[in-house]
Amino acid sequence: MTERIFGIHHVTAITGDGQKNIDFYCGVLGLRLVKVTVNFDDPQSYHLYYGDELGAPGSIMTFFVWPGAHRGRQGTSQVTATAFSIPMPSFGFWRKRLADAGCNPSALATRIGSSVVEFNDPDGIRLELIARDAGDPRIPWAGGPIPEDRSIRGFFGVTLSEDGYEHTARMLSDLMGFVKVGEEGHRFRFIGSGAGGEVVDVLCTPGGVSGSLGAGVVHHVAFRAENDESQRRWREILAKAGRNVTPVIDRTYFHSIYFREPGGVLFEIATDNPGFTVDEPASSLGTSLKLPLQFEKDRTAIKSMLPQLRLPGGATE
Ligand code: ZN
Repeated sequence: MTERIFGIHHVTAITGDGQKNIDFYCGVLGLRLVKVTVNFDDPQSYHLYYGDELGAPGSIMTFFVWPGAHRGRQGTSQVTATAFSIPMPSFGFWRKRLADAGCNPSALATRIGSSVVEFNDPDGIRLELIARDAGDPRIPWAGGPIPEDRSIRGFFGVTLSEDGYEHTARMLSDLMGFVKVGEEGHRFRFIGSGAGGEVVDVLCTPGGVSGSLGAGVVHHVAFRAENDESQRRWREILAKAGRNVTPVIDRTYFHSIYFREPGGVLFEIATDNPGFTVDEPASSLGTSLKLPLQFEKDRTAIKSMLPQLRLPGGATE
């Protein structure tokens, strides 16, 4: 196998309240809102992107905003936890900050050799803070409210909850190049190549409740393809392996293919290029509503259907 997966590109989840979502991911977690746009498949709803300064792959948490949507159920065939990477000495700081924000953080625990604190976002989405043994050299967004030595560096990884184990494990290791590095109870840890956001835990919960889509659940996880050529080869590899993979779809900020892994979790492979500065300068990322060209002619109608949001820095959209 010559193609490599460079860890997680982004994680996309569903929120029922865009304003609370912005206030939490920017105001509490200290991520940068790097893009305010619409769901390209449903332009009547927002799509919000958070990340580091430029929204580098491996740091991007994104949300479809479905105001008033029914709550989904977290369960099997879903990403049931998304873990961010923080520097080691900051757990006390974070536990207090999360408790003050009403997020009910867990006690500090150890899991497969790493320290972890679990908590929920305002929609009930399971999040984790994990410190990497060797630290994390990635540069955090310095414009948020968190001191730089404590700031989130990007993703640590995700947990997939699965009915079974074998087929998902084989796909990760034989097809996608992940290596199994540890296990604890029914949790099996795989690591991809790359320098951050490369951990995938498979949590085997036989007989567990199956997940359903709605507010408060993760919709899909995307992995990184280096460029369009690599993505094209991934598409061939996946199709040959019997995956029902989509054609390449232009998401303006990256190009995407989607397929389901054998346990039912929706996977995407997204290119690193062109990134979030393709339609606005780095200095003003996320400060106004950006629309892809095909929707620009309908801007007034689209804006009239979207709820008003207060953006970090004081602007409204
Ligand atoms: Zn995606």
